[in-house]
Amino acid sequence: MIDPFGRAITYLRVSVTDRCDFRCTYCMAEDMAFLPKSDLLSLEELDRLCAAFIRRGVTKLRLTGGEPLVRRNVMWLINNLGARLGDGLEELTLTTNGSQLAKHAENLARAGIRRINVSLDTLDPENFTAITRWGKLAPVLEGIFAAKQAGLAIKINTVALKNINGHEFSRLIEFCGQHGFDLCLIETMPLGETGTDRNEQYLPLSEVRARLAADWTLTPSTYTTGGPARYFHIAETGQRLGLITPLTHNFCEGCNRVRLTCTGTLYMCLGQDDSADLRTPLRATEDDSALDLAITNAIARKPKGHDFVISRTQKRPALARHMSVTGG
Ligand code: SAM
Repeated sequence: MIDPFGRAITYLRVSVTDRCDFRCTYCMAEDMAFLPKSDLLSLEELDRLCAAFIRRGVTKLRLTGGEPLVRRNVMWLINNLGARLGDGLEELTLTTNGSQLAKHAENLARAGIRRINVSLDTLDPENFTAITRWGKLAPVLEGIFAAKQAGLAIKINTVALKNINGHEFSRLIEFCGQHGFDLCLIETMPLGETGTDRNEQYLPLSEVRARLAADWTLTPSTYTTGGPARYFHIAETGQRLGLITPLTHNFCEGCNRVRLTCTGTLYMCLGQDDSADLRTPLRATEDDSALDLAITNAIARKPKGHDFVISRTQKRPALARHMSVTGG
């Protein structure tokens, strides 16, 4: 699948549920309204959709959400997708908040997952509960260590939040260095109403990098996962530090991905509203001809880039859709 700007689309992110057991202040409102369960694609339908994308050239699949590990029977889907590894699919991976990881880590490894991203914004238990509103740090740490024990490579994703976790990044670098994890810092993106002012939360990573460079030897690295992060090698720990800066650095030129929601809507860009309905063609026929045509038409509409702006004058988010819908 080649889009109008010559980019090969080889990466599909699948949000398997919009539900989550946390309510992170930058991601969701506390009183989020979730989709009725009847709107969700079944796990069999999600598997069939993923298979169609793999047949069309997708080599990398990431399951996300909401929280992917809170979807009932999600291991069924993960095992099925894992069985496609080596048969067109080259990598199956997962982004999780870690709350259910202790229970699932070994099964994830057994299904063929080799690396996962775990979101962790702080190592302070009180701060953790303040940021996630509902979460507890201890089970997440337990999950992270269970995943390490199961042999999964781990990247910690941390959203940079002004006056909230900015003082903790050196501690997170140390923690990741100690345990052999990579760390990726992410700027907040203006997606969905959360009940908090994004201007208050936005911390430019250009500032953070300058501050960290005083304590750590950061050398720009050519390492890439094909994603939006720019990586640095940290001499003192031997690990990598990634920076994802959607607002200070446009990362669209090399975009190789599209995003599927749990209702079968395909978003061709995280930062644009245009979408394609794949549920109707999926359910229309048992063969995939209508689905294939809908995928072809959608890829032909992939936009050049996003228009994220966090503006002082505009209080509303750039997009009404929350990250938990499209899958972060
Ligand atoms: N529940 C899983 C998790 O916590 O990783 C997967 C879904 S979550 C939406 C994926 C990632 O998006 C998390 O790392 C989260 O911190 C990040 N995220 C959510 N809302 C964001 C926003 N507005 N700006 C930047 N990152 C965001």
